[in-house]
Amino acid sequence: MSELRDLYQQVILDHHRAPRNFRPLPAASRTAEGRNPLCGDEVTLYVELAGGEIRDIGFQGSGCAISRAAASMMTASVKGRTTEEAERLFDRFHRMLTGDGAGDTAAADLGKLAVFAGVREFPARIKCATLPWHTLRAALAGEPSTVSTEE
Ligand code: ZN
Repeated sequence: MSELRDLYQQVILDHHRAPRNFRPLPAASRTAEGRNPLCGDEVTLYVELAGGEIRDIGFQGSGCAISRAAASMMTASVKGRTTEEAERLFDRFHRMLTGDGAGDTAAADLGKLAVFAGVREFPARIKCATLPWHTLRAALAGEPSTVSTEE
């Protein structure tokens, strides 16, 4: 089990050091900002929507390793998906982190995102992992506001 945990940590650290899609998108049709004041994480998301599909996505911001890796892996997993698919992915991701019992079933469907299952053991970090997803939801809803994990 500790080997598995080390592997998960390596994946998260890899995304933290070399985040995917870490760039602004000049062609973005939606943007949103997210903040997690408890940890100091900040993320700005850029989404290019085309016919209900996330054609391209990028992010910028600063924060802890978990939030940065979560944003990196979130962008990689929703790119090319429809907005409905992205919403469903967030639901499963959220259940994996907060649900009791149902968590393991949810993790099985999440592919690489399952590396965040270990975050469940650190409740203070759950908001770091879900911040990019809450921000994505705001961007897809077309809300021009800043979302905060504390509201
Ligand atoms: Zn954080």
